Amino acid sequence: MAKLSDATRKRLKSRTRLVTAGRKTDEQFGFINTPIYRGSTVLYPDAASLSGPSPRFTYGTKGTPTTEALENAWSEIAGAAGTVLAPTGLAAITLALMTALKAGDHLLVTDSAYYPTRHFCESVLARMGVETTYYDPLLGCGIESLIRETTTTILVEAPGSQSFEVQDVPAIAEVAHRHGLCVIMDNTWATPLFFPPHERGVDLAVEAGTKYLGGHSDLLLGLVSANSTWFRRLRQTFDAFAMCAGPEDVFLALRGLRTMELRLREAHKQGLEMARWFAARPEVKQVLHPGLPGAPGHDIWKRDFLGASGLFSIILHPCSDAAVAAMIDGLELFGMGYSWGGYESLVIPFDCAKYRTATTWNPGGPGLRFQIGLEDVEDLQADLDAGFARLQAAA
Ligand SMILES: *Cc1c(COP(=O)(O)O)cnc(C)c1O
Repeated sequence: MAKLSDATRKRLKSRTRLVTAGRKTDEQFGFINTPIYRGSTVLYPDAASLSGPSPRFTYGTKGTPTTEALENAWSEIAGAAGTVLAPTGLAAITLALMTALKAGDHLLVTDSAYYPTRHFCESVLARMGVETTYYDPLLGCGIESLIRETTTTILVEAPGSQSFEVQDVPAIAEVAHRHGLCVIMDNTWATPLFFPPHERGVDLAVEAGTKYLGGHSDLLLGLVSANSTWFRRLRQTFDAFAMCAGPEDVFLALRGLRTMELRLREAHKQGLEMARWFAARPEVKQVLHPGLPGAPGHDIWKRDFLGASGLFSIILHPCSDAAVAAMIDGLELFGMGYSWGGYESLVIPFDCAKYRTATTWNPGGPGLRFQIGLEDVEDLQADLDAGFARLQAAA
């Protein structure tokens, strides 16, 4: 097998990239996967090399061949100048924010952001003298009216956590860059395969690798990729925190990467099929899936996204908490849990009204967030049929 030339690598399609990226088989005796390097101390050959130019690896916190393999692979897939790894998705968000912000800054955050992101802004960032204003996720270039003298950063998340509004990221990035601001995106839902973040104007893109990259609900990991403007500062901030990911989780993520496109393509297909099925149910008031016409930001999703993952929400017609519990407690194929991105189907009740401040959340019925896994949709539908029967009986 000949070594992949730079010219070939440049023109590879994303599916081929997922198979080839970050691999250095020639450096590991022909074995396919990069092994788990564990280590703190890295030995130098002599005194001269201690004071000379830095070798490739210098200390465990700064990186190992295992972390470098995933960083390189992710940069290639995300179209980034560089990537750093963090122990969790939330740690990756905080690392991106700490890269962009300083005391006295004003930060704009979408009202639809992942709740723990809000908590970080309201606790740590507030204490550090950073003021946060939340904005309507659907305001697009209208964000310009919220920019102040001290604004330096805009955080977008598309689609929104739980509520799935699709933001106009290119429009927001255009306004942001005209004002010299940094755009951070939580791109966990789409991954770079369905939304190439840097191509769309994002400076720092965050992925909770815990979700679709891992893909098997057995690891915690975060990634931050940066364009060429921001990578130096991102790496410097990463080095300052030494917030590094565990070697075993990085190894598992590299393994998940090879099948990520396959799993996401199936999530797209199964998710849309289930979303349409829900939309036809009399118990369902609304389906919040970016791929369904009429969903908030659907036209933007069609313009900017290359697919949808298997996570979306439904709003039920008004009913009691007891009726919802009767429905979901008895489901045999849908687990109840907060994370997602694995191979198994999940359900969780949610209510954005508990934390929203810039927009009102009043969908007119209880909300349920679903992740559609790799099971047969007919089995999932049969399980939900029985669940809806329990809901009707309890109502
Ligand atoms: C889960 C999630 C995160 C955080 O990932 P963890 O690894 O669980 O910390 C961040 N953003 C979004 C949108 C998520 O769904």
